[in-house]
Amino acid sequence: MRDEIYRSEKLSVLGELAATIAHEIRNPITVSKGFLQLLKSRTQNETDLKYSILALEEIDRAEAIISEYLMYAKPQAEKVEKIDVKAHLSNVISITEPYVTSKGHIVDSQLEDLYVYGDSKKLTQVMINLIKNAAEAIEKNGKITIHAFAQNNYAVIEIMDTGIGMNEEQLQRLGNPFYSTKAKGTGLGLMVSYRIIEALGGTIRVQSKQGMGTKFSVLIPLQDEAKQ
Ligand code: ADP
Ligand code: MG
Repeated sequence: MRDEIYRSEKLSVLGELAATIAHEIRNPITVSKGFLQLLKSRTQNETDLKYSILALEEIDRAEAIISEYLMYAKPQAEKVEKIDVKAHLSNVISITEPYVTSKGHIVDSQLEDLYVYGDSKKLTQVMINLIKNAAEAIEKNGKITIHAFAQNNYAVIEIMDTGIGMNEEQLQRLGNPFYSTKAKGTGLGLMVSYRIIEALGGTIRVQSKQGMGTKFSVLIPLQDEAKQ
């Protein structure tokens, strides 16, 4: 037990250090990006143009890794508030709609009135990541269905897609840092999402069938209105 406490203290110090470093790395990256963009816009040389585009893409990837990591490892204290799940999800759906429809997919949602406690910015991050993953898993003209309902004292949020699905081995690897099957993936989105939901006393379940689609179910302890 003592060892465990010691270990978790050590981990949280490490996490804070990593978050500080990630934060500090952001500034020089942003500056380098600015100069690269300048060089790119100035060059008449085709090879230089190609190289600067590649370098900028890699910088974007580094930036994405840092932001996704910082989202969960932010040193500041969590903001805990009452979240209206229905309003929250409607907002997330409208934020992600342009991205989803640009890929030719449709979104369908059925949302009940539910309340949970948590940091709404972090919950937004989880939902955007799951919806983005769903959209990216569909090759063309698919459907994303989002349901929110109450079950056994939990708010259940389901995100279903008609995408490529996953096999057993891929399912096992979900949530491992840097596990990604995408050319430009960070492999951090799910790890961060799992941690955020676990910190709320919740859990994420996944069901998937190759070639058929995937269902992510996010369970968060329900905030009983009557207990307010
Ligand atoms: P990224 O999206 O950057 O690859 P994530 O952590 O969000 O990182 O996801 C990790 C991997 O899990 C993805 O690369 C993909 O292989 C798999 N995955 C996640 N969501 C789905 C989904 N809805 N359908 C199929 N595969 C998925
Ligand atoms: Mg992702």
